[in-house]
Amino acid sequence: MDNYLASGHLKDANGFVLNINFELLKGCPYQCEGCFVNKEQDKLITEENTDKLFNLIDSSSQNGYRTFIAFIGPTDFLVSSNTVDVLSDPSIVEVLNEFKRLSFQTTYLNISNMAPIIETLNKYYNECEIEVNLVIDPAKITDTGYLKTLEKNKDKFLNALNRENVRSFGIMNVYDYDKTKIGNLLKDYEFMHKRVEHLFETTIDYNFSIGRKPDLTSAEFQKATNRIKELFNDSVVSSEKAQYLRFSFGKLTDSLIEKQYNYLNGKLYASPLLYERFASFNDTFLVPTDSFQIEEVEQYENTLISKQFVYANKTTECETCSFLGSCVDRGILFLMETYNVKDCLVAKDALETINYHGAKAVN
Ligand code: SF4
Repeated sequence: MDNYLASGHLKDANGFVLNINFELLKGCPYQCEGCFVNKEQDKLITEENTDKLFNLIDSSSQNGYRTFIAFIGPTDFLVSSNTVDVLSDPSIVEVLNEFKRLSFQTTYLNISNMAPIIETLNKYYNECEIEVNLVIDPAKITDTGYLKTLEKNKDKFLNALNRENVRSFGIMNVYDYDKTKIGNLLKDYEFMHKRVEHLFETTIDYNFSIGRKPDLTSAEFQKATNRIKELFNDSVVSSEKAQYLRFSFGKLTDSLIEKQYNYLNGKLYASPLLYERFASFNDTFLVPTDSFQIEEVEQYENTLISKQFVYANKTTECETCSFLGSCVDRGILFLMETYNVKDCLVAKDALETINYHGAKAVN
């Protein structure tokens, strides 16, 4: 049951894995519920930035890291206005080819522009594995026509791409599902999963796009995170179901191996693992590195770890919790401090079931 991992290769890793989420695409025409991406912002890698990124990549590899996934977002790559320009930019080609896998996301609602994108991928990125993640609107998972469109377009795209082993994960934006017509159904993970499981591998990844909202309040953050906490805690009631309903940080050691950062216009940002990687471009998340040497980044990480252990004694239960080390490693207490959260932020009942293989009592 290791294939719920963002990377099935992590279990074989004998050093650190370095992933970077590159914010490069813009111009998405959709208004997906729960999406807080800045769709019009210019996102660049200048020549100077390329040198810095190579500092990071080179110093990482000298220190036991292996570059693995470059996420290229934040918008739907099949409809963004600059996908081909970005992917054929010489600096970007150079940097992205340092990664084993390129990961994109799409709604698969419109594939009419796929030909030049596939041509560009085949021209410049033949050596890279490709991952195409599917952004699904939870409000539409009972809409058979919608699901059929996704399936049809996915098949067409993958046939045209004609690459082996294209990985695919399912993503849902987190928002107030109670505002949808199927709010109650969206409290049942198993129901959601069964409606869409044929479209991708593994389990649904919940994307807290709300983290990108520049003025995100503590109340908004807690409302969004509580929804998913309750979803997992209420759904995972037995070890049998835990096998089926794993979520990305369910296996506590992954974050010890996998390091991931968000990159925007020459700056590196911390990316805590809250079920899935969290993206915020507020200064609080900025990794203070001028030289982009991995040693500087590690120093920042160590400071962050110390601060989180200090914050633990300001919370209601983290200090005595058996998951404290893992939550610190994933940056959960950093998120708690940033958004002034005192109570457990994550689906602790589900974590216990998954990791201790014990059944949670059904109320
Ligand atoms: S956030 Fe929850 S699971 Fe993590 S250390 Fe605190 S109480 Fe434990």
